[in-house]
Amino acid sequence: MDRKHILGLVSGGVVLTLVLATWFGGSIIFGGEEEVYIIDFDHERAAIHVRELCSNGPRMSGSEEERLGAEYIAAQFKDAGLEEVHIETYSVPMFEVRNTRISLVEYGPLGTIPRPLGDTITFEHMTEYVFQGYSGSYNWRDFRDDLDVVSVGNGTDESAYSSARGRVCLIEQNGDTPPNSEVYFDAYDAGAEAIILQNTWRGESLGYLPMFKSNQNPVEYDDYPDIPFFMVSKEMGDTILQMTPTHRLRMDIDIWIGNLDISVVVGDIPSSGSSDDIIMFTAHHDTCYNTIGAVDNTVGPASLIEIARGMVDSGKKFSRTVRFATFGGEEEGLFGSKEYEKAHRAELGENLQVLNFDMAHTDREAMSVSMVSNCNTTLGKLKEIGDQLLRVEPALKDYTIGYGYNDLQIPYSDYWPFVQGGSMGVAAWGSGCVEYHTYLDDMTHLNSESMQIEGRILGSYALAEAT
Ligand SMILES: [Zn+2]
Repeated sequence: MDRKHILGLVSGGVVLTLVLATWFGGSIIFGGEEEVYIIDFDHERAAIHVRELCSNGPRMSGSEEERLGAEYIAAQFKDAGLEEVHIETYSVPMFEVRNTRISLVEYGPLGTIPRPLGDTITFEHMTEYVFQGYSGSYNWRDFRDDLDVVSVGNGTDESAYSSARGRVCLIEQNGDTPPNSEVYFDAYDAGAEAIILQNTWRGESLGYLPMFKSNQNPVEYDDYPDIPFFMVSKEMGDTILQMTPTHRLRMDIDIWIGNLDISVVVGDIPSSGSSDDIIMFTAHHDTCYNTIGAVDNTVGPASLIEIARGMVDSGKKFSRTVRFATFGGEEEGLFGSKEYEKAHRAELGENLQVLNFDMAHTDREAMSVSMVSNCNTTLGKLKEIGDQLLRVEPALKDYTIGYGYNDLQIPYSDYWPFVQGGSMGVAAWGSGCVEYHTYLDDMTHLNSESMQIEGRILGSYALAEAT
């Protein structure tokens, strides 16, 4: 059969599908194969949710902005028709950057005192440097607290730390660098006064901006390193290395660490049947402290709101509860989902299915999204629904949708506490977003059209499973 003929059949099929869809309210038969009801998803309204949620600034967990975000999501869950909508709070370890000043100060030829009229280079928080998780503080009193900087490679060679004592360690983060928790303890054990990661790895097109990453939760450690830990842009790192023979690093840093209340927003489409099984949509609603996180992860809760509306508006009768939950505390260590799972383990039951949305979005450069699951049967169903979606929604034909097996044992997002308990999980991811975890993850990169892809596939999947 030639290509033209196939195309003719496909477009004919689309017309037939649309006609049948109108007749049977979306539940259609196609090509002899039973197809599922594809839920509606208003991506323009989803973009409004992203804008509203971002309007208060970064939703750092435990902050007033996070609380306001949770209230917005709860109000929208109610508006979408969810029931039992409520906000739970959990007290978890968090941090707050209360004061920070970092500069390079020029020293005299003997290196003993700063030059009275020497130059000072002051760096800007967020755009040039970003703290890593539970960083320690540094209380600067006078010039004797200024520090020399020593370069220790990419952190893989521990012998490079031999001259770290009493100095600041600068580590090149080049992609092979060990995890934050590891290099933090290595530098601390070597007697370093602070640790700096220089980004030479991610976001070349943006000039290797500093990115937020979390670090070990300090609560269970008696001798947690109380030394500053931050990432710098490639340029700031180069400046420090260049100036270090004549300049010293001056830091005055006050970071508060303690417990704060984070929010978990929950709403249900209740079951009218006898099954206790639950299908749960999850997403974190917090952002890193240094960004409004339009993509990571405002698109997550915004997607859940519109999926909820699409499922409720289907008018179907549910024989299984479908739950929607958004969590705070994800960026610092999945705190919201861990606490929620612990508190509700019995109620969630053995047959829980978790469908997680973290950055389930793609920018116009990358044009692809992907779902991974620890269940091949589910992946097969998702692929069929995805193919069906592309047939009925020609506007989405330029996107690539990936489906892959993954055991979901690595705690990258909020599926993890539930999958650990034995649940089937799907992680809906996206692509693009080089602005990830930097101050540039803002509205300008939002491509709301792409939010409907995984939203409609997983929403339609859950609808078919629950009705
Ligand atoms: Zn995220």
